[in-house]
Amino acid sequence: MFEKIQGHQTITSHLEKEIRFNEVSHAYLFSGIDGLGKMKTAREFAKALLCQDQIDKGCGHCSVCIQIDHENYPDVRIVAPKAGETSIKISQVREMISQLSVKPYSGNWRINIIDGAERMTPEAQNSLLKSLEEPLSYNIFILITSHYQAILPTIRSRCQSYHFQPLRILDIEKIILKETEFEQGLVSEAVMAAGGSPGMALYLLSNSEIQKERTAYLRELYGLLKGNEIKVFTLAELLAKDKVTSQENLEFFIHWFYELNLLLEGHPLADHGEPNPAHRAYLQLLTNQKNQAIIKTLFEMMATIQYNVNLRLQWEKCFIKIMKIQKG
Ligand SMILES: [Zn+2]
Repeated sequence: MFEKIQGHQTITSHLEKEIRFNEVSHAYLFSGIDGLGKMKTAREFAKALLCQDQIDKGCGHCSVCIQIDHENYPDVRIVAPKAGETSIKISQVREMISQLSVKPYSGNWRINIIDGAERMTPEAQNSLLKSLEEPLSYNIFILITSHYQAILPTIRSRCQSYHFQPLRILDIEKIILKETEFEQGLVSEAVMAAGGSPGMALYLLSNSEIQKERTAYLRELYGLLKGNEIKVFTLAELLAKDKVTSQENLEFFIHWFYELNLLLEGHPLADHGEPNPAHRAYLQLLTNQKNQAIIKTLFEMMATIQYNVNLRLQWEKCFIKIMKIQKG
Protein backbone atom coordinates (compact mmCIF):
# COMPACT_ATOMS: atom_id res chain seq x y z
CA MET A 1 0.00 0.00 0.00
CA PHE A 2 2.91 2.32 0.65
CA GLU A 3 3.43 2.60 -3.11
CA LYS A 4 0.58 5.13 -3.01
CA ILE A 5 2.91 7.51 -1.17
CA GLN A 6 4.96 9.62 -3.55
CA GLY A 7 8.50 10.73 -2.85
CA HIS A 8 9.14 9.46 0.68
CA GLN A 9 10.52 5.98 -0.03
CA THR A 10 13.14 6.08 2.72
CA ILE A 11 10.46 6.67 5.34
CA THR A 12 7.95 4.19 4.00
CA SER A 13 10.49 1.39 3.62
CA HIS A 14 11.63 2.00 7.23
CA LEU A 15 8.05 1.71 8.43
CA GLU A 16 7.51 -1.44 6.41
CA LYS A 17 10.63 -3.01 7.92
CA GLU A 18 9.53 -2.11 11.44
CA ILE A 19 6.31 -4.04 10.93
CA ARG A 20 8.04 -6.99 9.30
CA PHE A 21 10.66 -7.33 12.06
CA ASN A 22 8.23 -6.59 14.88
CA GLU A 23 10.00 -3.39 15.83
CA VAL A 24 7.08 -1.01 15.77
CA SER A 25 7.50 1.99 18.11
CA HIS A 26 4.81 3.26 20.44
CA ALA A 27 5.12 6.86 19.33
CA TYR A 28 5.99 8.51 16.04
CA LEU A 29 6.44 12.13 15.06
CA PHE A 30 5.91 12.89 11.36
CA SER A 31 7.11 16.43 10.62
CA GLY A 32 7.45 18.54 7.48
CA ILE A 33 5.56 21.31 5.68
CA ASP A 34 1.86 20.86 4.98
CA GLY A 35 0.68 18.86 2.00
CA LEU A 36 3.56 16.38 1.69
CA GLY A 37 1.49 13.30 2.51
CA LYS A 38 2.22 12.87 6.24
CA MET A 39 -1.41 12.04 7.04
CA LYS A 40 -1.62 9.74 4.03
CA THR A 41 1.48 7.92 5.27
CA ALA A 42 -0.02 7.60 8.76
CA ARG A 43 -3.16 6.09 7.27
CA GLU A 44 -1.22 3.65 5.08
CA PHE A 45 0.87 2.67 8.12
CA ALA A 46 -2.33 2.00 10.07
CA LYS A 47 -3.65 -0.18 7.23
CA ALA A 48 -0.38 -2.08 7.06
CA LEU A 49 -0.64 -2.79 10.80
CA LEU A 50 -4.31 -3.72 10.87
CA CYS A 51 -5.19 -5.18 7.46
CA GLN A 52 -6.89 -8.58 7.61
CA ASP A 53 -5.49 -9.86 4.32
CA GLN A 54 -1.88 -8.81 4.03
CA ILE A 55 0.40 -8.53 7.02
CA ASP A 56 2.91 -5.65 6.79
CA LYS A 57 1.44 -4.22 3.59
CA GLY A 58 -2.26 -3.38 3.77
CA CYS A 59 -4.37 -4.65 0.87
CA GLY A 60 -6.50 -1.54 0.37
CA HIS A 61 -9.75 -3.42 -0.24
CA CYS A 62 -10.62 -5.47 2.86
CA SER A 63 -13.25 -4.05 5.20
CA VAL A 64 -10.58 -2.83 7.65
CA CYS A 65 -8.59 -0.96 4.98
CA ILE A 66 -11.76 0.60 3.57
CA GLN A 67 -12.97 1.70 7.00
CA ILE A 68 -9.58 3.25 7.74
CA ASP A 69 -9.78 5.18 4.45
CA HIS A 70 -13.23 6.44 5.45
CA GLU A 71 -12.00 7.34 8.92
CA ASN A 72 -14.58 5.16 10.63
CA TYR A 73 -12.51 2.21 11.85
CA PRO A 74 -12.84 2.14 15.65
CA ASP A 75 -9.18 1.31 16.34
CA VAL A 76 -7.83 4.25 14.37
CA ARG A 77 -8.58 7.48 16.23
CA ILE A 78 -7.82 10.88 14.77
CA VAL A 79 -7.66 14.00 16.88
CA ALA A 80 -7.44 17.37 15.11
CA PRO A 81 -8.63 20.93 15.80
CA LYS A 82 -12.44 21.01 15.66
CA ALA A 83 -14.08 22.88 12.75
CA GLY A 84 -13.62 26.63 13.19
CA GLU A 85 -11.02 26.12 15.95
CA THR A 86 -7.28 26.66 15.64
CA SER A 87 -6.12 24.58 18.58
CA ILE A 88 -6.49 21.05 19.94
CA LYS A 89 -8.03 21.42 23.36
CA ILE A 90 -7.03 19.56 26.49
CA SER A 91 -10.54 18.05 26.63
CA GLN A 92 -9.97 16.36 23.23
CA VAL A 93 -6.67 14.88 24.39
CA ARG A 94 -8.22 13.76 27.69
CA GLU A 95 -11.00 12.00 25.83
CA MET A 96 -8.44 10.15 23.71
CA ILE A 97 -6.42 9.22 26.81
CA SER A 98 -9.51 7.89 28.57
CA GLN A 99 -9.87 5.25 25.84
CA LEU A 100 -6.28 4.04 25.91
CA SER A 101 -6.77 1.30 28.48
CA VAL A 102 -9.67 -0.23 26.55
CA LYS A 103 -8.52 -3.23 24.47
CA PRO A 104 -8.59 -2.73 20.69
CA TYR A 105 -11.89 -3.59 19.04
CA SER A 106 -10.21 -6.19 16.80
CA GLY A 107 -6.60 -6.78 15.79
CA ASN A 108 -3.53 -6.09 17.89
CA TRP A 109 -3.22 -2.32 17.74
CA ARG A 110 -5.00 0.92 18.35
CA ILE A 111 -3.55 3.82 16.33
CA ASN A 112 -3.98 7.28 17.85
CA ILE A 113 -3.24 9.97 15.29
CA ILE A 114 -2.89 13.62 16.33
CA ASP A 115 -3.11 15.72 13.19
CA GLY A 116 -1.68 19.23 13.65
CA ALA A 117 0.09 18.25 16.88
CA GLU A 118 1.69 21.71 17.13
CA ARG A 119 -1.80 23.04 17.70
CA MET A 120 -2.18 21.21 20.99
CA THR A 121 -2.21 23.78 23.76
CA PRO A 122 0.77 23.35 26.14
CA GLU A 123 -1.68 21.90 28.70
CA ALA A 124 -2.87 19.38 26.11
CA GLN A 125 0.73 18.43 25.25
CA ASN A 126 1.55 17.96 28.92
CA SER A 127 -1.45 15.74 29.49
CA LEU A 128 -0.37 13.56 26.57
CA LEU A 129 3.15 13.25 27.92
CA LYS A 130 2.27 10.75 30.64
CA SER A 131 0.68 8.37 28.12
CA LEU A 132 3.82 8.56 25.99
CA GLU A 133 6.00 7.86 29.01
CA GLU A 134 4.06 4.78 30.08
CA PRO A 135 2.60 3.38 26.87
CA LEU A 136 0.12 0.50 26.99
CA SER A 137 1.33 -2.28 24.74
CA TYR A 138 -1.36 -2.04 22.06
CA ASN A 139 -1.42 1.75 21.62
CA ILE A 140 0.55 3.51 18.91
CA PHE A 141 0.68 7.31 18.68
CA ILE A 142 1.38 9.17 15.46
CA LEU A 143 1.85 12.90 15.92
CA ILE A 144 1.74 14.89 12.69
CA THR A 145 3.14 18.40 12.61
CA SER A 146 4.23 21.16 10.26
CA HIS A 147 6.08 22.99 13.07
CA TYR A 148 8.52 20.58 14.68
CA GLN A 149 9.83 23.31 17.01
CA ALA A 150 6.38 23.90 18.47
CA ILE A 151 6.28 20.37 19.93
CA LEU A 152 7.58 20.18 23.51
CA PRO A 153 11.11 18.70 23.61
CA THR A 154 9.90 16.20 26.23
CA ILE A 155 7.35 14.90 23.70
CA ARG A 156 9.79 14.93 20.79
CA SER A 157 12.30 12.85 22.73
CA ARG A 158 9.73 10.11 23.31
CA CYS A 159 8.81 9.75 19.66
CA GLN A 160 10.53 8.12 16.76
CA SER A 161 10.92 11.06 14.42
CA TYR A 162 10.50 11.03 10.65
CA HIS A 163 11.05 14.28 8.77
CA PHE A 164 9.30 14.56 5.40
CA GLN A 165 11.38 16.53 2.89
CA PRO A 166 9.81 18.85 0.33
CA LEU A 167 9.67 17.26 -3.12
CA ARG A 168 11.49 18.56 -6.18
CA ILE A 169 9.49 20.81 -8.50
CA LEU A 170 9.70 18.40 -11.42
CA ASP A 171 8.50 15.48 -9.30
CA ILE A 172 5.51 17.46 -8.01
CA GLU A 173 4.59 18.51 -11.54
CA LYS A 174 4.73 14.91 -12.69
CA ILE A 175 2.52 13.71 -9.81
CA ILE A 176 -0.10 16.40 -10.37
CA LEU A 177 -0.20 16.05 -14.14
CA LYS A 178 -0.65 12.30 -13.73
CA GLU A 179 -3.40 12.55 -11.12
CA THR A 180 -5.43 15.55 -12.31
CA GLU A 181 -6.81 17.19 -15.43
CA PHE A 182 -5.15 20.60 -14.91
CA GLU A 183 -3.17 21.94 -17.85
CA GLN A 184 0.63 22.14 -17.71
CA GLY A 185 0.94 25.96 -17.52
CA LEU A 186 -1.35 26.27 -14.51
CA VAL A 187 0.31 23.34 -12.78
CA SER A 188 3.82 24.83 -13.22
CA GLU A 189 2.66 28.16 -11.79
CA ALA A 190 1.02 26.58 -8.74
CA VAL A 191 3.95 24.25 -8.12
CA MET A 192 6.37 27.21 -8.14
CA ALA A 193 4.28 28.94 -5.50
CA ALA A 194 3.89 25.86 -3.33
CA GLY A 195 7.36 25.46 -1.80
CA GLY A 196 7.85 21.75 -2.48
CA SER A 197 4.44 20.66 -1.26
CA PRO A 198 2.18 18.74 -3.68
CA GLY A 199 -0.78 19.25 -1.34
CA MET A 200 -0.24 23.02 -1.31
CA ALA A 201 0.12 23.06 -5.13
CA LEU A 202 -3.21 21.23 -5.47
CA TYR A 203 -4.80 23.60 -2.99
CA LEU A 204 -3.59 26.60 -4.98
CA LEU A 205 -4.79 25.06 -8.25
CA SER A 206 -8.28 24.64 -6.90
CA ASN A 207 -8.17 28.00 -5.12
CA SER A 208 -6.62 30.40 -7.62
CA GLU A 209 -8.33 33.22 -5.73
CA ILE A 210 -6.21 32.43 -2.69
CA GLN A 211 -3.08 32.55 -4.79
CA LYS A 212 -4.06 35.99 -6.10
CA GLU A 213 -4.85 37.20 -2.59
CA ARG A 214 -1.49 36.07 -1.30
CA THR A 215 0.37 37.79 -4.10
CA ALA A 216 -1.53 40.96 -3.12
CA TYR A 217 -0.59 40.51 0.58
CA LEU A 218 3.07 40.23 -0.35
CA ARG A 219 2.79 43.42 -2.41
CA GLU A 220 1.20 45.30 0.51
CA LEU A 221 3.74 43.94 2.99
CA TYR A 222 6.53 45.05 0.68
CA GLY A 223 5.08 48.58 0.76
CA LEU A 224 5.04 48.39 4.55
CA LEU A 225 8.69 47.32 4.69
CA LYS A 226 9.52 50.29 2.46
CA GLY A 227 8.03 52.58 5.13
CA ASN A 228 4.41 53.13 4.04
CA GLU A 229 2.63 53.25 7.42
CA ILE A 230 -0.89 53.14 5.94
CA LYS A 231 -0.17 49.50 4.95
CA VAL A 232 -0.29 48.50 8.63
CA PHE A 233 -4.02 49.19 8.60
CA THR A 234 -4.87 48.02 5.09
CA LEU A 235 -3.13 44.69 5.72
CA ALA A 236 -4.71 44.25 9.16
CA GLU A 237 -8.12 44.84 7.67
CA LEU A 238 -7.53 42.35 4.85
CA LEU A 239 -6.23 39.64 7.16
CA ALA A 240 -8.44 39.87 10.23
CA LYS A 241 -11.44 38.03 8.77
CA ASP A 242 -11.46 35.14 11.26
CA LYS A 243 -9.17 32.92 13.31
CA VAL A 244 -8.75 30.18 10.72
CA THR A 245 -7.87 32.46 7.78
CA SER A 246 -5.61 34.46 10.07
CA GLN A 247 -3.79 31.27 10.97
CA GLU A 248 -3.50 30.11 7.34
CA ASN A 249 -2.11 33.46 6.28
CA LEU A 250 0.33 33.51 9.19
CA GLU A 251 1.59 30.11 8.07
CA PHE A 252 1.96 31.48 4.57
CA PHE A 253 3.96 34.51 5.81
CA ILE A 254 6.16 32.33 8.02
CA HIS A 255 6.88 30.06 5.06
CA TRP A 256 7.68 33.10 2.94
CA PHE A 257 10.18 34.55 5.43
CA TYR A 258 11.73 31.11 5.92
CA GLU A 259 12.39 31.01 2.20
CA LEU A 260 13.98 34.45 2.40
CA ASN A 261 16.05 33.15 5.30
CA LEU A 262 17.42 30.32 3.15
CA LEU A 263 18.32 32.78 0.39
CA LEU A 264 19.89 35.29 2.81
CA GLU A 265 22.10 32.52 4.17
CA GLY A 266 23.14 31.52 0.67
CA HIS A 267 21.22 28.22 0.53
CA PRO A 268 19.02 27.13 -2.37
CA LEU A 269 15.26 27.19 -1.83
CA ALA A 270 13.81 24.02 -0.32
CA ASP A 271 12.10 23.16 -3.61
CA HIS A 272 15.29 23.92 -5.61
CA GLY A 273 13.34 26.55 -7.56
CA GLU A 274 14.83 29.89 -8.55
CA PRO A 275 14.05 32.99 -6.45
CA ASN A 276 11.19 34.87 -8.12
CA PRO A 277 11.01 38.68 -8.59
CA ALA A 278 9.15 39.06 -5.27
CA HIS A 279 11.94 37.20 -3.42
CA ARG A 280 14.52 39.46 -5.03
CA ALA A 281 12.62 42.65 -4.14
CA TYR A 282 12.32 41.59 -0.48
CA LEU A 283 15.97 40.52 -0.30
CA GLN A 284 17.06 44.06 -1.16
CA LEU A 285 15.22 45.37 1.92
CA LEU A 286 16.14 42.77 4.54
CA THR A 287 19.16 41.63 6.47
CA ASN A 288 19.43 38.18 7.98
CA GLN A 289 18.97 39.60 11.48
CA LYS A 290 15.85 41.61 10.55
CA ASN A 291 14.37 38.62 8.76
CA GLN A 292 14.88 36.39 11.82
CA ALA A 293 13.23 39.02 14.03
CA ILE A 294 10.24 39.14 11.67
CA ILE A 295 9.84 35.36 11.80
CA LYS A 296 9.93 35.54 15.61
CA THR A 297 7.23 38.24 15.56
CA LEU A 298 5.03 36.10 13.31
CA PHE A 299 5.39 33.13 15.67
CA GLU A 300 4.40 35.36 18.60
CA MET A 301 1.33 36.40 16.64
CA MET A 302 0.57 32.70 16.00
CA ALA A 303 0.62 32.05 19.76
CA THR A 304 -1.61 35.07 20.44
CA ILE A 305 -4.41 34.14 18.05
CA GLN A 306 -4.98 30.83 19.82
CA TYR A 307 -6.89 32.91 22.36
CA ASN A 308 -9.99 35.00 21.83
CA VAL A 309 -8.40 38.28 20.86
CA ASN A 310 -9.31 41.22 18.66
CA LEU A 311 -7.68 39.93 15.50
CA ARG A 312 -7.52 43.25 13.73
CA LEU A 313 -5.77 44.89 16.67
CA GLN A 314 -3.30 41.99 16.94
CA TRP A 315 -2.48 42.14 13.23
CA GLU A 316 -1.91 45.90 13.55
CA LYS A 317 0.44 45.36 16.50
CA CYS A 318 2.24 42.65 14.57
CA PHE A 319 2.75 44.86 11.50
CA ILE A 320 3.82 47.87 13.60
CA LYS A 321 6.45 45.64 15.18
CA ILE A 322 7.61 44.40 11.77
CA MET A 323 7.86 47.98 10.59
CA LYS A 324 9.99 48.89 13.62
CA ILE A 325 12.26 45.91 12.97
CA GLN A 326 12.75 47.05 9.40
CA LYS A 327 13.56 50.63 10.45
CA GLY A 328 16.15 49.13 12.83
ZN1 LIG B 1 -6.71 -4.72 3.93
